[in-house]
Amino acid sequence: MTSPEAIDAAARLLGALAERDAPLGARTTYRVGGHAALLVVAHIGADLRRVRTAVMETNADVLVVGRGSNMLVADDGFDGIAVALGDEFADVAPNVGAATITAGGAAAFPLLARAAAAAGLGGLEWAVGIPGSVGGAVRMNAGGHGSDVAAHLMAWSFVDLGGGPDGERTLADLDASYRHTSVGAAHVVVEATLAANPADPAEADAAMAEIVRWRRANQPGGQNAGSVFTNPDHDSAGRIIDAAGCKGLRVGSAEVSTKHANFIQADPGGSADDVRALMFEVQRRVFEATGIELKTEVRLIGFGP
Ligand SMILES: Cc1cc2nc3c(=O)[nH]c(=O)nc-3n(C[C@H](O)[C@H](O)[C@H](O)COP(=O)(O)OP(=O)(O)OC[C@H]3O[C@@H](n4cnc5c(N)ncnc54)[C@H](O)[C@@H]3O)c2cc1C
Repeated sequence: MTSPEAIDAAARLLGALAERDAPLGARTTYRVGGHAALLVVAHIGADLRRVRTAVMETNADVLVVGRGSNMLVADDGFDGIAVALGDEFADVAPNVGAATITAGGAAAFPLLARAAAAAGLGGLEWAVGIPGSVGGAVRMNAGGHGSDVAAHLMAWSFVDLGGGPDGERTLADLDASYRHTSVGAAHVVVEATLAANPADPAEADAAMAEIVRWRRANQPGGQNAGSVFTNPDHDSAGRIIDAAGCKGLRVGSAEVSTKHANFIQADPGGSADDVRALMFEVQRRVFEATGIELKTEVRLIGFGP
């Protein structure tokens, strides 16, 4: 919890860099949910260091926001400082000789896949279907189609808004497992370098087209954040939710997708609290039917304990 007094003090320290009562749910792919007490879009490293000073002096909670594709913000919003990276952190630079690609934390992950392919670098085609940022993908160890960030990551740099030292790290420091890393809540991943391999651009394009086709055939569009729950060991959350009879289940403005049971869709103009209530209901029904406790992959912001 961050007090209004702490937000006032942080707003004074951040001046024009911070926007008060800024839409936050609108920055997510659910497109529901409330506002951030303060929002900073950082354009240069010095902006992040100013946020760090404000956080350290006021003890305000801080939230790093990428493309919001794995995040649900409560209707009451987030009472701390939300921080997003501006387009200045979105450069993507393939290095064909080294067979690597370096991208800023704000770069769109699908664009990284496409830039690699266009430069004749393959192996990252799976990233084309993951609508997050490079920073969010590192934080989540995003993955699909048999690969993940940890299988490619060589180096990543971050700024610690909590007051620790900034740094450049390697894969070994990421402590990555399925949708988990050691990237802390106050760490902003500002750049990452991933390994690729030489590839024919036309073949890489064809592989990406197939992934896009498969996703359109098997996953819903609309307002969602991809998989709501992580897969339990050796099983699929979607299969379990379907078997528990939850496809099409609705709470207010939120519905379990009839196309893929591990997706929850929010109605336009809907409520994040409905989405959260539906997550609870799915967890309850699955536990009652199978004894399995589904864990949320989607980050829940501002809902309290
Ligand atoms: C249609 C759809 C399909 C999807 N398919 C997949 C899939 O196949 N595989 C998969 O793994 N995910 C999938 N996702 C989920 C999502 O795209 C990934 O988790 C993605 O990596 C999240 O990135 P983001 O920038 O949107 O992060 P956000 O949703 O903004 O944030 C997610 C987490 O990352 C942190 N974060 C964001 N940016 C940074 C940063 N720069 N530095 C440090 N921390 C940061 C946030 O604080 C938060 O904890 C899907 C989502 C959608 C909507």
